[in-house]
Amino acid sequence: MTREERTLQRIRTHLAEMGPVLPGSLSEQWNVCGTPGCQCKALPQPKKHGPYYQLSFTVAGKSSTLFIPKKDVAEVRRRITRYHRFKTLTTDWVQACIALARTQGFRSPS
Ligand SMILES: [Zn+2]
Repeated sequence: MTREERTLQRIRTHLAEMGPVLPGSLSEQWNVCGTPGCQCKALPQPKKHGPYYQLSFTVAGKSSTLFIPKKDVAEVRRRITRYHRFKTLTTDWVQACIALARTQGFRSPS
């Protein structure tokens, strides 16, 4: 096995073992409601409702949002981190394929 083929094998293994990913960024929101006299509008120390979490992302040109229950925030953060790892691995994969192509005789124009 060549060095390039070993690199591809290593990346393939990482990708095969990868768990679920999520793109985007997680934001925390505190809301004010419409109920008269609610604590969320009390002055000078309003106690807003929340935190509420949402994940916003754009994939294939389409923007979306997912509301994330507080109990799932830690798992969503892990999936976001894993997504960055996934993106790095797919870039590594393409670069390894280009390196492989060079070893197979595909040349840059001189
Ligand atoms: Zn309120």
